[in-house]
Amino acid sequence: MKLFEAVQPAVPVEGTDKIFPVHRIYCVGQNYAAHAREMGSDPNREPPFYFMKPADAVVRSGATIAWPSRTANLHHEVELVVAIGKAGKDIAATATLAHVFGYAVGIDLTRRDLQAAAKAAGKPWDTAKGFDRSAPLSAIRRAADIGHPESGRIWLAVNDAVRQDGDLSQMIWRVPEAVAELSRYFELKAGDLLFTGTPAGVGPLSPGDRLAGGIEGVGEIRLSLAAR
Ligand code: MN
Repeated sequence: MKLFEAVQPAVPVEGTDKIFPVHRIYCVGQNYAAHAREMGSDPNREPPFYFMKPADAVVRSGATIAWPSRTANLHHEVELVVAIGKAGKDIAATATLAHVFGYAVGIDLTRRDLQAAAKAAGKPWDTAKGFDRSAPLSAIRRAADIGHPESGRIWLAVNDAVRQDGDLSQMIWRVPEAVAELSRYFELKAGDLLFTGTPAGVGPLSPGDRLAGGIEGVGEIRLSLAAR
């Protein structure tokens, strides 16, 4: 008998009455060359790497969230998110798309000041990346409906001013390679999400900001930050 009922984080599936239960949230770091450069890295020498957020960091599109604690430099990172629908490990890049249920638009909220301090000290990124409500996500679109996007505009605006404006074709590691490599580190399960990295233009947010982002052919996301 359970001591209590645990909360099952989930996001809606567009065009259905179904929800997608979230198992784990994985993220790729610095997967667009221009963003790697703006973070002070050399995209030609450093292979992509992974980090995680807790599953209950998901926030549905349209929400208003409180200003996160312990940061004075909260950044937005708009990203294509892959929703895994079929378990697998050591998946060949040519076989990954059979494991993909669909796609969404996500915002990898980042406490950049904590990340910079962690990087400088060689410490983990958990408090910078894996905090509460750090993974706002649009509804998931099924690959059966939209296919597997390889190109298309990815953008994010803050208070109607466009800050990030890139294209999925600029990704260093494309979805098949990013999923295949991830499956060599972790056994993928249905319900896993993979944030695939952000284009250039990341920057600081302020209390009261309204965020809107989108990916051509995938969807749009909206998020508000509560006033101080
Ligand atoms: Mn990111």
